[in-house]
Amino acid sequence: MTHEQLSRLLEQTEWSDEDIVRVLALTDPEDCALLQQAAYRRTTALMGNNVYYRGLIELSNVCTYDCRYCGIRKGNHALKRYTMTLDEVVEQAVWAAEQGYGSVCLQAGERDDPKFVDFVTRCLRAIHEATVSDTLPNGVGITLSLGDQTPEVYEQWAQASGNRMALRYLSRFETSNPALFEMLHTGGGKQQKTLEKRFECFNSLRQSGYQVGTGVMIGIPGQTLEDLCKDIRLFQQLDVDMIGMGPYLMSQGGDLQEIGQMEPEPLLQLSLNMIAVVRLVMGPVNIAAATALQAIRDDGRELGIMYGANVVMPNLSPQSYRTGYQLYDNKPCVNDGPMQFASELERRIAAIGRDIGWNKPGSSLRWCQRVGVEE
Ligand code: SAM
Repeated sequence: MTHEQLSRLLEQTEWSDEDIVRVLALTDPEDCALLQQAAYRRTTALMGNNVYYRGLIELSNVCTYDCRYCGIRKGNHALKRYTMTLDEVVEQAVWAAEQGYGSVCLQAGERDDPKFVDFVTRCLRAIHEATVSDTLPNGVGITLSLGDQTPEVYEQWAQASGNRMALRYLSRFETSNPALFEMLHTGGGKQQKTLEKRFECFNSLRQSGYQVGTGVMIGIPGQTLEDLCKDIRLFQQLDVDMIGMGPYLMSQGGDLQEIGQMEPEPLLQLSLNMIAVVRLVMGPVNIAAATALQAIRDDGRELGIMYGANVVMPNLSPQSYRTGYQLYDNKPCVNDGPMQFASELERRIAAIGRDIGWNKPGSSLRWCQRVGVEE
């Protein structure tokens, strides 16, 4: 394909599977630059110059699931388990609100027992009460990434958040390839996460008014470009509001070392191509530049923004807990305090010509259009 043909292809709004696969496969630096520029132009044309922060609070590494790729899986007995106190969680959220972040994300391993459900409910109430201010009249926006729960629990958390206009849930389906999904999720001999359950949860989340986000891991050994194309088709079919995708990285705490990992350079390019294609195919959804991008290359997240992402999630977890939340090897910023990291990230985002959407909830434009609200 000539550069002219590629440029024309990148301007299209209706994509065939063949074109998606062809663009995901790009490796030539000039071709990749054309893709990057097209995705960046589309992002800023649709959603302006802002990049939104979600302060990430990894509130517990206790997990009842055994996903084989994950460093905090239940079967990793070498890991010291922690759960933050309510005060610690609220303190981080208040810090984020005071910095102007506009929203936070609470993430943890997989638990659905009443004690945990109640703990999250209390955290949400306390965060709301502590962050309502003149600057944030509805309190800080909340994204939850706490796995499969019942419709009643999702509703209970939505009520406790006190802010349904900036309420989001992120739950990746990891891969749409059923055989690959099963291989990844039969740790300890039994399957816990299932695709069907995740999809059921998306319906319940919509019922309770959440902006729904999902995503996949990119470059899993055995995953094909056609699989990634099917992942994108599923994003479209589910009509999701937000996408969080990152490279698949090997984890010493996982149980999958034998399948290896893609070489860093092609893995990074494939991940960036995937972000760009999702932007071009899906339009005004929020796309996060995953932390895992930075595990491959120091400026990985900035590259994610250059290729069409518009959200980043600075890690706010207290430093003493960071080593306990190593989902994959070489997770970045394990030794940085939130202050240090946030100012460095701000400098880097400014350096690529973008503004941070301070004190804004940064809701998905796709969601705003669907429910008929303006931010
Ligand atoms: N328990 C929640 C859930 O399952 O949705 C949230 C926590 S889970 C640790 C968050 C995400 O980490 C997963 O959805 C997965 O995509 C990502 N993750 C875990 N291990 C990974 C690895 N080795 N490489 C890349 N991403 C990984």
